[in-house]
Amino acid sequence: MARTAPALKTNWDVIVIGSGAGGLLAALRAAANGLSTIVFEKTGYYGGTTATSGGAIWVPCHGLDGHEDSREQALAYLQHVTAGEAHADRIAAYLDRAPAMIAFLQQCGIACDMLAGYPDYYTEAPGALVGRALVPREIDGMDLGEDFADLRPPFGAFMLLDRYSLDLEQAFALSARLPGWRRVAAAMMLRYWLDLPWRLKSRRDRRATMGNALIGAMRRELKRLGVPVVLNSALGRILREDGRVTGVELSGSGAQGRFEARKGVILAAGGFEQSQTLRDENLPVATDHHWSLTPPGANTGDALIAASAIGAAREFMDYCWWAPSTQLPSADNPQVLVTHQMFFDHRHPHSLVVNGLGERFVNESCSYDDFGKAMIADHVKSGANLPCWMIFDATYRERYGCGGILPGSVMPDSRVPQSWWNGFFYKAATLDELASRISIPAGTLASSVADINRFAGAGRDTDFARGESAYDRFFGDQSVQPNPSLGPVDQPPYYAIRIQLGDLGTKGGIKVDANAQVIDTAGRPVGGLYAVGNCAASPFANCYPGSGGTIGPAMAFGMIAADHVAQQTSGTD
Ligand SMILES: Cc1cc2nc3c(=O)[nH]c(=O)nc-3n(C[C@H](O)[C@H](O)[C@H](O)COP(=O)(O)OP(=O)(O)OC[C@H]3O[C@@H](n4cnc5c(N)ncnc54)[C@H](O)[C@@H]3O)c2cc1C
Repeated sequence: MARTAPALKTNWDVIVIGSGAGGLLAALRAAANGLSTIVFEKTGYYGGTTATSGGAIWVPCHGLDGHEDSREQALAYLQHVTAGEAHADRIAAYLDRAPAMIAFLQQCGIACDMLAGYPDYYTEAPGALVGRALVPREIDGMDLGEDFADLRPPFGAFMLLDRYSLDLEQAFALSARLPGWRRVAAAMMLRYWLDLPWRLKSRRDRRATMGNALIGAMRRELKRLGVPVVLNSALGRILREDGRVTGVELSGSGAQGRFEARKGVILAAGGFEQSQTLRDENLPVATDHHWSLTPPGANTGDALIAASAIGAAREFMDYCWWAPSTQLPSADNPQVLVTHQMFFDHRHPHSLVVNGLGERFVNESCSYDDFGKAMIADHVKSGANLPCWMIFDATYRERYGCGGILPGSVMPDSRVPQSWWNGFFYKAATLDELASRISIPAGTLASSVADINRFAGAGRDTDFARGESAYDRFFGDQSVQPNPSLGPVDQPPYYAIRIQLGDLGTKGGIKVDANAQVIDTAGRPVGGLYAVGNCAASPFANCYPGSGGTIGPAMAFGMIAADHVAQQTSGTD
């Protein structure tokens, strides 16, 4: 039965634009601060990229599960990895408030746990630590009632066989074939099929994990507090009187027209990764929005455009949260290309990545963000990196997945859709033949493979130090020795798959201060206007410090913005 929307009042204390991590946390906090609050969301789903994500939240000094950390250590780390580019006052605000944001989540009944063993992304940097990444505890989708259907579904790779929900540790166990991975998979399927009453109602797994758990839990809490989340309502214009923001103009079937915000507007409408025009204007190399792993059509920089129209400044516009991807024809309709992550895969042993000249250019086991940066740097130098190629052998094929291609032990070559071969996924009996299929020089490829095989035998990559950092080793396959990130590529047949410069979102955007308040081009704060998450310039500049490094600041600055609105209101600021 169709649901009828209640009539909406048009004046609120706080209007939040966008329903991802930044927006929902800001709304929760504003409501907890006693302000009447509403969230407007452009699409027919709430949750944004956050709902599709791993849901990891990077927070130093969170204090959960007995974890020991210190502000000094975390500051040393962030100062080192952001290399002088980030604003000191925003880093300080993050370190001061992020732990309180986790405590606030807990007060709201939203539990998080430490992601056991997960290292920061620069394990050799001063102040680096294991254990700063948190994950939301899973929730039962049934607790959301009818709102479960509007929760943006998880990213495909985060569901086993596109159906069974996994948590981040299970996804990692399956991808890295940790001991017991078959048992993990079997338990997932059994739980799903034994849930008979729900099976009769829906194919969707009601176990909400990762980003779905985080967004679902915040949505549940917003409902309890009476905060509406109105779908199909897109920000068009920001309204201003006497230099102060007073509301927004919306369009869409959910809400349209002018809505007044007496105390503040918090923009949380994501980045501009889905706008080809803004990508072309700002990113350092030519990219295609189809390579992005974010929901198609959602984050098109609307808030950035609206804020710029009233004089907001911009910052870090050429930076992205890079994450390599690949495209494969949809199994249902080969005319449609589906974008798949490659960020779990380029780190597995028995593989290497080469540019269009057949040369290695990167430590393949580095973080996905660094991998993207290396693609750009190599492309600027060689002109032959977009795309680059992941090359692997029969040992890799049998053991590990690759993009949307499951390990050979689950999806043998005979079950790979015909439309994927030659064009997207390549196979040959020899390396020479493979090189010819993907049009790269055979001699250089042979030499790059010979190097990898030599390095695998010695356990040491003298060209790119693959497998040397604690980060690399953590994501390697511990059954491969002496170096879990390096295995020989010497068992035919050989395979190749294209890697594109994908992303998890852009990280440049509206310039803000340490209160998350928007700054205009003259350097003054804009009264009543805040920006958080990917629609604001990242507090970490061009760095991805650890797992959860995008959602952590989106939520911490969501809370900072909501508190600043409340302080302004009560005259305490
Ligand atoms: C597969 C995948 C896994 C990831 N895993 C992690 C992880 O584990 N940890 C981590 O930190 N990061 C992760 N990321 C990145 C992370 O998900 C994003 O950087 C983060 O969720 C951005 O949050 P946000 O609140 O800024 O935006 P979003 O979550 O994208 O929310 C923005 C919302 O605004 C809406 N919107 C856009 N325009 C308008 C408009 N005009 N009016 C109203 N609403 C509008 C959008 O539809 C969207 O719902 C991952 C990304 C992907 C793709």
